[in-house]
Amino acid sequence: HSKLEELDPELHGLIKKEKSRQRRGLEMIASENFTSLAVLECMGSCLHNKYSEGLPGQRYYGGNQFIDQIEILAQKRALEAYNLNPEEWGVNVQPYSGSPANFAVYTGLIQPHSRIMGLDLPDGGHLTHGFFTPTKKISATSIFFESMPYKVNPSTGLIDYDALEANAKLFKPQVIIAGISCYSRYLDYKRFRQIADANDAYLFADMAHISGLVAAGIIPSPFEYADVVSTTTHKTLRGPRAGVIFFRKGVRKVKANGDKVMYDIEGRINQAVFPGLQGGPHNHAIAGIAVAMKQAKTPEFVEYQKQVVLNAKRLSDGLISKGYNIVTGGTDVHLILVDLRSAGVTGARGEYILEEVSIACNKNTVPGDKSALNPSGVRLGTPALTTRGLVEKDIDQVVEYIDAALKLAKKISETSGPKLVDFKAAVDQNKDVLALRDQIE
Ligand code: PLP
Repeated sequence: HSKLEELDPELHGLIKKEKSRQRRGLEMIASENFTSLAVLECMGSCLHNKYSEGLPGQRYYGGNQFIDQIEILAQKRALEAYNLNPEEWGVNVQPYSGSPANFAVYTGLIQPHSRIMGLDLPDGGHLTHGFFTPTKKISATSIFFESMPYKVNPSTGLIDYDALEANAKLFKPQVIIAGISCYSRYLDYKRFRQIADANDAYLFADMAHISGLVAAGIIPSPFEYADVVSTTTHKTLRGPRAGVIFFRKGVRKVKANGDKVMYDIEGRINQAVFPGLQGGPHNHAIAGIAVAMKQAKTPEFVEYQKQVVLNAKRLSDGLISKGYNIVTGGTDVHLILVDLRSAGVTGARGEYILEEVSIACNKNTVPGDKSALNPSGVRLGTPALTTRGLVEKDIDQVVEYIDAALKLAKKISETSGPKLVDFKAAVDQNKDVLALRDQIE
């Protein structure tokens, strides 16, 4: 009996069920992964008990001699993981997660109601990049800052850099965000930089989704062009649930008269994280970051990231060969966006039936969707499956399962009526759905 089982069998039972769910099914949510036992050991360690507000060597609490060493190690390894020169780049490893990290970046760099431009949520951006709807400011980043999102071209699914450039000229943002939650192609950081420079804006890259691929050096890195880079550490990077912010030190630009304008963002970012937004750092997570960044330097990690992309490409090719429409026609990274409009299924129905057969994914808007509430696609990612050891031939089998499930969804939709609840009820009783689930599990 574990301590938890003894003390709280109810909760212990729920964790057991969740563990079994994670084991039985196919985890295809693009932002998820299975972190290592070494990272989990940090997350469940005594470091959790310690308060350490402030930075190493400048704490508001005593007893931090080992915590200081752990945070310094995490900082050093984070810089090493991305081959960054500590003279040119600094890092803060304290953000609790990706969203607080991003909010700290904005509050550190700019004043309330300053202007920001990020990729629109329905086009593949993240909530924290300034999302709002015609009737409501949804994200705090659109409430406290003035946001003008940029879009993808609805016919190609690719970011419309020309429109971004033209709008930035008029809107004059102080921050341009280059980051994605659902976009399967490389970002053109050079172009982003040019647009930022033309408007004297900061270029902020949020590499949350792709930070594992960047660390492995298999996709373009934002560090050459960005002023600030944030990431979560639990997605492709496969570390603990946490966030990290990298910021440039040194020269920002050289003026026409030869004067150097120096970056002054280190202190502002650090102060935005604490005491601006957060209190005590999560030392257990910081230790997990240190371990994850060490793992990111191993040859196995590079092989893993390569396999993630190979698997995503295979998934894309397989679904295309079955007649599915993949937004942008394929992928360069760890995820694909399947446009289900031609498959006769909505995103919600696709997500539901896949979940019923134990394939976890999420419904997602596709370029040109009229409503974010009723999206037409599903986003599928390969990081978690690849951690479980799946390679291309296994992905071929996954394609068969997904195709079988979506075909069933179409068939059931045709008879179950227009309401999602009716569809769900019909799926729940369908023998073919249950048989497919048994096969997958
Ligand atoms: N930034 C991007 C690009 C993301 O995709 C996400 C999460 O999905 C976040 C930030 C936010 O991270 P968190 O969920 O840890 O707050």
